[in-house]
Amino acid sequence: MPALPSAEIRSIVFDLDGTLYVCDRFAAEIQKTGAAYVAALKGISQSEAMRLIAATRHRFAEENGATQTLSAVCSELGGSVRELHDFFVRTLRPEAYLVRDERVIRLLERLAERFSLYVYTNNNRILTTRIMNYLGLDHVVCDIFTIDETWQGKPDREMVGLVLERIAGAPGAVLFVGDRYDVDLRVPEQFGCPVYLSQTLEQLLRLEELLVTAPCADTSTAPAYPPVVPS
Ligand SMILES: [Mg+2]
Repeated sequence: MPALPSAEIRSIVFDLDGTLYVCDRFAAEIQKTGAAYVAALKGISQSEAMRLIAATRHRFAEENGATQTLSAVCSELGGSVRELHDFFVRTLRPEAYLVRDERVIRLLERLAERFSLYVYTNNNRILTTRIMNYLGLDHVVCDIFTIDETWQGKPDREMVGLVLERIAGAPGAVLFVGDRYDVDLRVPEQFGCPVYLSQTLEQLLRLEELLVTAPCADTSTAPAYPPVVPS
């Protein structure tokens, strides 16, 4: 596996859900809650809404060849991303599902000694803040970027540009870490940012090792760094 160009990296931008924590039960609860929103919107049952969402996702994938987020699917079905997230805030209880993991806290604390850490998520600010507090990660990040900024979910070129501007880092100095390549990493990579796909706790914990062992190469003339896809 290639190491990351850590000599260049000054900042790390983490996705939240599925990246800084992995919890299938909570991920399923988010999907179920999204279906409840679509069910109320369309006046259909929740199981019909789940089938409609799945069919819409399937159609998107066939047309665009890429994963679609729940926010994008809800918009396609005539819903409002903002209303969906208001519904999430009123309904979801992440504290009932998530478990604080000291290994992740220690990892981010150590990384924060060397890098400026950020979170950029399709989740909303209220739930992101609650989750970060609950997981004990709120003290290690410099800033969080949430869907509330534009109500336009990832992948979004404009928002990645804004994130880089706010961080004030050259693209090559900002590492993006996420659990969905199409959603979290493709656009940052197009900007020239190094990216790391992390879908399990083990892959997340391996990030430190990859950054520590990275060679100090001159990347000024090198092409955009390929995604590191854990085996
Ligand atoms: Mg994610």
